[in-house]
Amino acid sequence: MTKQENKIIDLVKKASDGGLLDREELIFLFSADPHLPAAGYLRAAADRMTRAACGGEAEVHAQIGLNTAPCPRNCRFCAFAAVNRIFRESSEIPVEAVAEMASRAEADGANAIFIMATADYPFGRYLETTQEIRSRLRPETVMIANVGDFEVGEGRRLKETGFSGIYHAVRMGEGKQTTIPPESRLATFRAAEESGLLLGTCVEPVGPEHTPEELVEKTLIGREASPCYSGTARRITIPGSSLAEQGMISEFTMAYQVAVVRLAMGPRVRGNCTHEPNLLGAASGANLFWAEVGANPRDTRAETAEGRGLGVAACRKILEEADYRVLEGPSRIYGSQK
Ligand code: SF4
Repeated sequence: MTKQENKIIDLVKKASDGGLLDREELIFLFSADPHLPAAGYLRAAADRMTRAACGGEAEVHAQIGLNTAPCPRNCRFCAFAAVNRIFRESSEIPVEAVAEMASRAEADGANAIFIMATADYPFGRYLETTQEIRSRLRPETVMIANVGDFEVGEGRRLKETGFSGIYHAVRMGEGKQTTIPPESRLATFRAAEESGLLLGTCVEPVGPEHTPEELVEKTLIGREASPCYSGTARRITIPGSSLAEQGMISEFTMAYQVAVVRLAMGPRVRGNCTHEPNLLGAASGANLFWAEVGANPRDTRAETAEGRGLGVAACRKILEEADYRVLEGPSRIYGSQK
């Protein structure tokens, strides 16, 4: 074993014993070659930590994208960014069809239903649509909002509509590859908390150009927010975008990063996600996948079920192949926030 590998193993032991990895230690881990034997040990330890945190029970959440639009926020990694010129006109899925998608995902066994809209989607319409969806779902079904930044008043209205929580993140390159200041994203974290909405987050979307320092910065932002889950997701190349030439990280690299984030979050956080779903991620500390239907910021097709999006059954199958039981019924990850 090299000195570097011994250090990886020491840090894995520290995290496995409940120690909190600090910034420098995390930079060291994110900088390591993911193909080192000690990096394999790290992934195995993250896998063990996740299984202990969730009792061997994985979850599949279904995300439904309500609309496509040329979004003026222009996050360079997103298919909806106006600057990427993928979707030049706004288009919405009719409420009836969205409600049907949600009911189907519920029937297929999704443990939570995420309703996503582009950041410029009118908030009032989002509430109207999601009230209709809510009325079609079983009362115990967990519904999660994935929307742009909001203030406490709007957060309370989401809560009244029947949302249990949100997905929100300070994304990689926030404020540089997006026009949204990181502070606005953090203000939404606080608004959610004040509104009684649980937070799920993730280190995303990761590209090959991202430094260990930025990976750590975003990991620690997540940890400080005390979410019910974190994880990592790679950036999917949007053809013709300014980030396309940077390329994508491999699922192998993503799996290593998922494992580092797992260890960074500590043993009490029930969920650890990765996207897109893959077996190596599920064997490296991820116990939460997303099925996708409707619009998808990583897809150039308006209906991602015909493109990149996997269905609930396919996500469940990958998790089962990683020896997880998949939870039946409402999410326990949303509900586990400390
Ligand atoms: S990520 Fe959200 S805010 Fe950014 S361009 Fe896409 S839809 Fe708009």
